[in-house]
Amino acid sequence: MRAHVLTYGCQMNEYDTHTIQSELVSGGHQMVDHPNDANLIILNTCAVRGKPVEKVISVLGEFRKDKRNGRDLTVALMGCLAQLEEGQDIADKFGVDILLGPGAITDILPAVDAIEAGKEHFRSLEFKSDLETYITPAPDSLTGFLTIMRGCNHHCTYCIVPTTRGPEVSRPVDVIMQEAEAMQKAGIQEIYLLGQNVNSYGLGEAHLPSFAELLKEVASTGIPRVKFTTSHPMNFTSDIIDAIAETPNICNFIHLPVQSGSDRVLKRMAREYGRERYLNIIREIREKVDDVVISTDIIVGFPGETEEDFEMTMSLYEEVAYEHAYMFIYSARPGTPSYKHFDDMPKTVKTERLQRLIERQKELSYRANNRYVGRDLRVLVKEMAQKGDYVMGHSDQNHTVLVPKEQISRMGLYDVRIESATPHTLYGTVKGFKSSSIPLMMV
Ligand code: SF4
Repeated sequence: MRAHVLTYGCQMNEYDTHTIQSELVSGGHQMVDHPNDANLIILNTCAVRGKPVEKVISVLGEFRKDKRNGRDLTVALMGCLAQLEEGQDIADKFGVDILLGPGAITDILPAVDAIEAGKEHFRSLEFKSDLETYITPAPDSLTGFLTIMRGCNHHCTYCIVPTTRGPEVSRPVDVIMQEAEAMQKAGIQEIYLLGQNVNSYGLGEAHLPSFAELLKEVASTGIPRVKFTTSHPMNFTSDIIDAIAETPNICNFIHLPVQSGSDRVLKRMAREYGRERYLNIIREIREKVDDVVISTDIIVGFPGETEEDFEMTMSLYEEVAYEHAYMFIYSARPGTPSYKHFDDMPKTVKTERLQRLIERQKELSYRANNRYVGRDLRVLVKEMAQKGDYVMGHSDQNHTVLVPKEQISRMGLYDVRIESATPHTLYGTVKGFKSSSIPLMMV
């Protein structure tokens, strides 16, 4: 088959897409760059909020029309939405041929074989424990994504992930290290360790290292930049902070979702920590890790959130002085405890609060970014910027950095002198080219 994958949602889905592509190619199928050239289209879906689900529905509508107009097309639905009843109903409605849950992605070859053999549908929704499958590095890339575990044992009331990805399962350390070493040999400059809650890697498994030990082991491959996402404050322990502080190529960038600054709301979210415990972790990070950049996730307008609760979120935001944040309005998702037990609040109230937070975040980010003017940052350049005269890269701490395109001939790591800043971007000029082997495609 000529296959194409459309990926929605988080970096874990990016990794799963890469896994599926590797499986298909190893099974003799061909990956094509454009959906129009494909006769097998796979939608790797996200179910965390309503919007990505709406997108998938509209795309499936197009493919159903194509099939009705005689196009030879097999459609597969995978990812978090596939695991939910909602996703299975959608699959029935749009005549999806293959349905694979996040725990069964390695069933893609038997699924395609079954359809090619004339079977009408193929479904696999079990949580397989085949996390030892070795995945080769993605070709021609400078950033490598490496999933170290699947699932989550926390039960935040707004979250569908424990239902769609199941309980935490840590991948074998030797397979992780095999993939990391292969990435290092392939010239990867930056590696992301991925999981819904990477901090609990190996928890309760005597034969596995702790997350802090795994971080250091991956760093020992010599890959210039090691990063990880996503973390949970309940498992963000001092040994992790020490590993970051002591190991030069573990980047001083930490994404630590807080979701709310109000103890009352945190309780309703079942986040298991309170405001003070969270702030203590932040204080320890700022104390131990030089020049650290901290980002977070915040949900605004969670059911029952009062104006006072929201003010608690704003004041926590001030106290931490995040350099960056992903901010969302609460989205009621079927199948979650909050959807079942709590009444949603008017969208106008949620969006008004979100707007206030975004305005404050812009001011704080602008102040934080201006601290880098006149300084040198190590920047990984990977692509052309929207603004045609620039190429875009990211610093060790995940700042978006734009440099004039005439200064860059190859993708790779550069030393960049920062000359100006906006709330979301730093501008600079190249001081010295550091390393890479991939020429930059000038458009
Ligand atoms: S920690 Fe909470 S929000 Fe994150 S994946 Fe687990 S249940 Fe969902």
